[in-house]
Amino acid sequence: MFVQEVYNWGRYPRQYAEVVPVRDLETLSEKLSSSQPWLARGMGRSYGDTALSSQILDMLPLKHFLRFDEQTGELEALAGATLDDVLKVFVPKGWFLPVTPGTKYVSLGGALAADVHGKNHHSEGSFSKHVRSFSLLTEKGELLEVSPENVDMFQSTAGGMGLTGIIVKLVLRLKPIETSYIRQESFKARNLDEIFALFEATQYATYSVAWINCLSQGQALGRSILMTGEHAFSDQVRGLKKTLLASHSNPKLVMPVDLPEVALNPFSIKAFNLLYYHKQIADKSTSIVHYDPFFYPLDSILHWNRMYGKRGFTQYQFVIPQEAGLPTMRSILQKIAQSGQGSFLAVLKAFGEQNDLISFPMKGYTLALDFAISDQLFPLLDRLDEMVLDAGGRLYLAKDVRMSADLFHKSYTRSAEWIEILKGLNPNCTFRSVQSDRLKITPW
Ligand SMILES: Cc1cc2nc3c(=O)[nH]c(=O)nc-3n(C[C@H](O)[C@H](O)[C@H](O)COP(=O)(O)OP(=O)(O)OC[C@H]3O[C@@H](n4cnc5c(N)ncnc54)[C@H](O)[C@@H]3O)c2cc1C
Repeated sequence: MFVQEVYNWGRYPRQYAEVVPVRDLETLSEKLSSSQPWLARGMGRSYGDTALSSQILDMLPLKHFLRFDEQTGELEALAGATLDDVLKVFVPKGWFLPVTPGTKYVSLGGALAADVHGKNHHSEGSFSKHVRSFSLLTEKGELLEVSPENVDMFQSTAGGMGLTGIIVKLVLRLKPIETSYIRQESFKARNLDEIFALFEATQYATYSVAWINCLSQGQALGRSILMTGEHAFSDQVRGLKKTLLASHSNPKLVMPVDLPEVALNPFSIKAFNLLYYHKQIADKSTSIVHYDPFFYPLDSILHWNRMYGKRGFTQYQFVIPQEAGLPTMRSILQKIAQSGQGSFLAVLKAFGEQNDLISFPMKGYTLALDFAISDQLFPLLDRLDEMVLDAGGRLYLAKDVRMSADLFHKSYTRSAEWIEILKGLNPNCTFRSVQSDRLKITPW
């Protein structure tokens, strides 16, 4: 038995676990028959404790592509393949991911288990909307073929954080592109009213995301930059770039050591935010950029999570329904600015309609904020939780590390229905995580 320290992207909390690399289905079946608790894990790019357990099945060795249909763009792949693997092979052939989170270092299984969203949720939905089917290995050792028509099984797995079983492979519909470039437009917003008006005015855009300076206060509360994007056509790129379909290269920069906690203080965060905002001089600018910096700006520095020091960090991500979006965001940003606990990164996105069983998105706005772990942080986040709940919103399980069981069950309004389905698929509670125990989802 090989026991090692495991943690996810936030490097908080840490746990000793037996980690079993899964190279074939036999290993999976053998482990599942051991009547011990298990949890599948991909790239560990969730932030908190959702991919932590005392016994982990490391799915990354199962990473082959099995089939690709050049007419429809349908790719059948094992769940340990990463978005990085898919892009490297299929961008040069003229295909792109239908939905991608802000890092390409996630596995297909992890993307479906969290039902990840990208900058195009308002226009193209979440990851699961582009999954035609997947194979799920259940507690009983059955390999089930699941398609969206099997509503209960599909929807309890998409966003179900590994609790229905092991996603072994899936069929994903890629989307055709003419070039690997994005036609990006950037807009400056002086405050929160302006950024919400800009989101409304740019609903036509396939991709949109805003980067908010959450230390600015008063008239400048919500000062931000909105970036929209479309896949560029060949005639928009020809003559500007050498190759129309170039995939990305591996990152060259590495954060070598943990930064001391003093490196990230309200002054350094303020300076960073000022620089970022003033970098763009005009109120609006247009450019042709490669997909890599557009979708994955943070991937350019390997191990950037070390920036937050040894204690680690967390990402607080919530969604607020459309009608309550602006006033609640205003109150939350005010509370954060007053607390002086700066967030280096604050990313605002618009969500389109989605009302699935356990998936995070709902029509409205989502804000994600990174905070270094400190003694003052959790009391602040407890206060933000109340505001999110009052507004009818909820927190993202893939980022969560501390919400209460009470908040989870009140804000995920269909949690009881979901748990009934879990009991049927996972009757002995084989699949459970540190998070599912904390949120009193398991045991039953
Ligand atoms: C820099 C950064 C940016 C991000 N941006 C976004 C974003 O824009 N949008 C977004 O939605 N998310 C975002 N995320 C979160 C990330 O996309 C999700 O947490 C995703 O689930 C990570 O995939 P993974 O392979 O690392 O899974 P892990 O972190 O290893 O696991 C996540 C969950 O999936 C389950 N799981 C993994 N593999 C399987 C499997 N084969 N079968 C069953 N269950 C499985 C695990 O049990 C766990 O519950 C971001 C993360 C980072 C670090």
